Amino acid sequence: MDINLKKDKEKKIVKEMILLYCKKKHKKNLCNECNEVLQYAYKRITNCPFTKEKTFCSNCKSPCYNSKMKEKIKTIMKFSGPRMLFYHPILVIKHLFLNFKK
Ligand SMILES: [Zn+2]
Repeated sequence: MDINLKKDKEKKIVKEMILLYCKKKHKKNLCNECNEVLQYAYKRITNCPFTKEKTFCSNCKSPCYNSKMKEKIKTIMKFSGPRMLFYHPILVIKHLFLNFKK
């Protein structure tokens, strides 16, 4: 798969997850707090130097997310992840999950 395509796909899924989370938890369509998380995740995906070698971020050694953001994203993943399975290929979700499971 093309590397930019891969990154785009990751971004799309992260965005949908955060949107879903915000809608259900905050009753908003992307509040400031969630938007911050989204922008952070975008930046990480864009700058990730490992996209090419790995199956997404699951085996990534780079400490992409600082702990505060990581906690937030982890919470969002936990909440939205299972719900996203209906809309996206399981492998993509699996990657995102593995990335934050550790
Ligand atoms: Zn929110």
